Amino acid sequence: ANSYVGFDTITQQIEHKLLKRGFQFNVIVAGQTGLGKSTLINTIFASHLIDSKGRLEPDEPVRQTTEIHPVSHVIVENGVRLRLNIVDTPGYGDQVNNENCWDPIVKYIKDQHSAYLRKELTAQRDRHIQDTRIHCCLFFINPTGHSLRPIDIIVMKKLSEVVNVVPVIAKADSLTLEEREAFKTRIREELIYNNIRLYPFDTEENDEEEVQLNETIRSMIPFAVVGSERTVIIDGKQVRGRKNRWGVVNVEDERHCEFVHLRNFLTRSHLQDLIETTAQIHYEAFRSKQLLALKE
Ligand code: GDP
Ligand code: MG
Repeated sequence: ANSYVGFDTITQQIEHKLLKRGFQFNVIVAGQTGLGKSTLINTIFASHLIDSKGRLEPDEPVRQTTEIHPVSHVIVENGVRLRLNIVDTPGYGDQVNNENCWDPIVKYIKDQHSAYLRKELTAQRDRHIQDTRIHCCLFFINPTGHSLRPIDIIVMKKLSEVVNVVPVIAKADSLTLEEREAFKTRIREELIYNNIRLYPFDTEENDEEEVQLNETIRSMIPFAVVGSERTVIIDGKQVRGRKNRWGVVNVEDERHCEFVHLRNFLTRSHLQDLIETTAQIHYEAFRSKQLLALKE
């Protein structure tokens, strides 16, 4: 018998362990009703189901999101299995009075920190803790082409205190490419003007490579995305897309929108950094505050 334990076997064992443990990446979406949050979540998952199973599930009608709820699937990226959890939220800021409309989302994020801290304080050494902490918040911006709404600026500020906020321009198919570029520049300027410090954060310890990584992210943000629950046929292939009177938008075509960039950002290039930043900056801030309060 062959007793040699090859690299493949070891990788599989690690993978199996990670999977069994529930190696987890948690994302939340936030923004006004009707900007395509639920649709984008489905688009992200569907694009992975295509990769892994070679087929698409039938179209579902879009439903109104009435509560905060997570949607979870195991996906495979770079040969590593990952439990991707995306938390859908109802729209906010649609009311005449938008006071504290961000509270439910901020509370949800803090509740996950609190649950983790409780487990951390009671867990035996070496026991793995189920991680529901939110690693990234996709913030949906209305594609007006003009400027951010005052409420968006307030909410982004509130959210950025507890989570890595990554803004996206929703329904980017409603802007021309020129309008899109101008809007992206405008949003970046407004973020700076309003002193909103979003992910990524610069620290003094950052080495050359990390500084470079941060610059790359800043040049991409906000991602101009398009989502779709439907499939269209392009060149004989089924793809996620939107058909209108002028033509077809292929969600996965980089010339049409930045969906693929966003997906790569989340599930490949910045996955680890988002997880680490959450633990080291956001969770740590929460934890030290709680522990200090306990002492008093
Ligand atoms: P939510 O309220 O933010 O969750 O928005 P939904 O995902 O429920 O979408 C609201 C409506 O916008 C639906 O009719 C979608 O088909 C449509 N929609 C979603 N994404 C896009 C997009 O990228 N472009 C366009 N043009 N419409 C979209
Ligand atoms: Mg929804």
